[in-house]
Amino acid sequence: MRIPFVAANWKMNKTLPEALEFLNAIRGQLPPESEVESLICAQSLFLSQMLFATSDQPLKIGAENVYWKDSGAYTGETSPKALASLGVDYVIIGHSERRKYFRETDEMINNKVQAVLKNNMLPIICVDETMGQREANEKVHWVVSQVIEALKGVSPEEAQKITIAYEPSWAIGTAAATAKQAEDGCYLIRQTIADMFSDECAEQVRILYGGSVKPNNQAELMAMPNIDGVLVGDASLDPAIFLKLVNYQK
Ligand code: PEP
Repeated sequence: MRIPFVAANWKMNKTLPEALEFLNAIRGQLPPESEVESLICAQSLFLSQMLFATSDQPLKIGAENVYWKDSGAYTGETSPKALASLGVDYVIIGHSERRKYFRETDEMINNKVQAVLKNNMLPIICVDETMGQREANEKVHWVVSQVIEALKGVSPEEAQKITIAYEPSWAIGTAAATAKQAEDGCYLIRQTIADMFSDECAEQVRILYGGSVKPNNQAELMAMPNIDGVLVGDASLDPAIFLKLVNYQK
């Protein structure tokens, strides 16, 4: 059974005091992990304080990016080995903002996925789709190829532990995809995993939808058979809204 997953992507928002204030505001109000897995991904520079502040809470803490080398002369980068040593559980890889503004390629994303798995953390691999690709009917090719490229060299045992987020950039920070559009993208990703690995593996992999998710559209999205959760940007910055998102079953 795939446990529903609500993941926040704070992006480059919040200072350390603001992050700690947020965590204080949600203390004691998160659902048990057996019902919903709750995750906040934040800037790497204060993940250790966030982990310390939530060690007794059913909340996972994740990074938004990582480099693929464990150590060496890579000034300014974040080592996956160092991230893992903090106790970080998840790392978002290949967000559309990284693909667009930092020119991350499929090859770089694949390197990062392998580095995260090697360091016993779990990747949340974002699969993008622009409006141009959608209108030009390139969606299938584009979505499928990003999944195939990101998972090159990943074993079936590793593949079943990963999470993939279908995050069409045309829906990020604008208007959400309809539940049907989101389900179509997530279904396509699950079929690709089944073709690459097996039906059993595809059944294990959690697939999230991301793009303008709010408490008022979340339940409809998560009722879809291939949507196991949501990756949320803007709406996750407010503690009251984040609590609504993680407690959507109540
Ligand atoms: C995101 O960028 O990961 C995202 C889903 O953003 P938003 O919810 O703000 O559309």
